[in-house]
Amino acid sequence: MRNRMIAGNWKMNETYTEGVVLAQGLAKELADGTGDVDVVVCPPAVDLKGVAEVIEQENAPFALGAQNVYWEESGAFTGETAPNMLTNIGATYCIIGHSERRGYFGETDEDINKKAKALMAHGIVPISCCGEPLEVREAGKHVEFVVDQIKKDTEGLEITDPSKFVVAYEPIWAIGTGKTATADDAQEVCGAIRKTLADIFGKETADGIRVLYGGSAKPNNVAGFLEKEDVDGALVGGASLKADSFAAMVKAA
Ligand code: PEP
Repeated sequence: MRNRMIAGNWKMNETYTEGVVLAQGLAKELADGTGDVDVVVCPPAVDLKGVAEVIEQENAPFALGAQNVYWEESGAFTGETAPNMLTNIGATYCIIGHSERRGYFGETDEDINKKAKALMAHGIVPISCCGEPLEVREAGKHVEFVVDQIKKDTEGLEITDPSKFVVAYEPIWAIGTGKTATADDAQEVCGAIRKTLADIFGKETADGIRVLYGGSAKPNNVAGFLEKEDVDGALVGGASLKADSFAAMVKAA
């Protein structure tokens, strides 16, 4: 019912020139197609156009995603990117609420909710991130922490097509640290996320929403997460920067 998804978050890596080379490498690695797996690549904003051109030229089997957006349509918001700027260059997904944006740039759940609404109004699929810091996990409060984020981040959203809204559960202590959550850890929270989505939007919608795991996911551990009932894919940081590693994860899915 839900296609699996592997999404790569390049973060602030790869110049325009390097990004084009990486996208070309990935197009080559995935030349035989990705089966039922939806693949998304999220480069830095200045690389988006170059990667869009590679996708078009190579007929590459992956979609283009941004890493951030602003909720206003246009105007005096120096340094920001509007949703229609993303659609105009072919981006169909956008990561919002990544813990690095929450932590370093002070993004709140209210901001993330506004971003989700703005993206959906423009037909861009949000990949809405949530996840707890280490101290919350150690206090055993991780499920309630993430459920609270989900409630705030999705408040007032209208999800008519559940394939057009994606959640990524990324425990902060596992991002870029090499410390991976176990598949059972991921299932515990991803299951609670789906239950929360069902309470808000109804079971049918919740059953169609992809919930990804993110946090040091790699070719050698991704299959274990995907065996779990409520884990539909992975949001991948470090391992998305090498075409062969990322393609191996797509194949493992
Ligand atoms: C991420 O930042 O979304 C992420 C999951 O990073 P990593 O895979 O490097 O832990």
